[in-house]
Amino acid sequence: MSEPTIVLLAAPRSFCAGVERAVEIVERVLEQRPHPVYVRKQIVHNSHVVADLEARGAVFVEELGEVPDGATVVFSAHGVAPGVRAEAEARGLAVVDATCPLVTKVHAEARRFAARGDTVVLVGHAGHEEVEGTLGEAPERTVLVADADDVAALEVEDPGRVSYLTQTTLAADEVAGVVDALRARFPDLRGPGSDDICYASTNRQEAVQAIARDADVVLVVGSPNSSNSQRLVELARRLGTEAHLIDDAAGLRDEWLAGARVVGLSAGASAPPRLVEEVIDALRARGPVAVHERRTASEFLRFALPPSVRP
Ligand code: SF4
Repeated sequence: MSEPTIVLLAAPRSFCAGVERAVEIVERVLEQRPHPVYVRKQIVHNSHVVADLEARGAVFVEELGEVPDGATVVFSAHGVAPGVRAEAEARGLAVVDATCPLVTKVHAEARRFAARGDTVVLVGHAGHEEVEGTLGEAPERTVLVADADDVAALEVEDPGRVSYLTQTTLAADEVAGVVDALRARFPDLRGPGSDDICYASTNRQEAVQAIARDADVVLVVGSPNSSNSQRLVELARRLGTEAHLIDDAAGLRDEWLAGARVVGLSAGASAPPRLVEEVIDALRARGPVAVHERRTASEFLRFALPPSVRP
């Protein structure tokens, strides 16, 4: 008998409270309202979640222009700029908002910081839907930076009135470096009352950190456009461990596993738990496997559903 491959399973992993709520909102709207039900943008950044809801009748669109007047439209977990809300209202669309409450918190901070006259520095990735939404709260007062080089190039109206916010799914260690650079340039810098990087991103990063040290290769289940999943892969690599993002079990490659005695496994906050089970099954089909879970935090958070979809 050959020695079993150890699968070191990171915990927490997979769905967070914001993703569970967003998916449940679409499921309920599909049950409760006449079809077609439209969803603006991918409800969460996972191809399997989107395909599953599509099969049940959801119609995913990129912009509100694709939604007929009077129809129901769900806003995705990543949030929307105020201009999108105004357009929906002007068009008489029935909006159900699946924005994660932790993204809504960042929007509220953007409004508050801008209202007191600060330049708001948003740390995040250009083009990501969450960033587009947050930027839209105070576009004339907000600037986007991705790294310390962007900070060095910043020009602000009043260096004594600068505050920062971050995208919720960034890597904590990388953001710390950017905030240090901001503070070095703007000593009076003010930040959010509590961290904008959400509990789910933080917990999944700490869990990957705990398995990466002991793994020969780390696999993260998630779609390529999932920010928090990408950060998990990068974090494992920064710790010196080979790491790969896979959408599902079909993404496994023999060359990654050849010679790996310990395979670390996690999943981003938008990846359904069943996909992790399927990866373990696929590993088992290649040879004996012993699964060990390493838990670094427990999660009990649940977000209430919007009143419009409650029974
Ligand atoms: Fe909300 Fe964080 Fe989950 Fe995004 S990753 S939906 S911000 S809890």
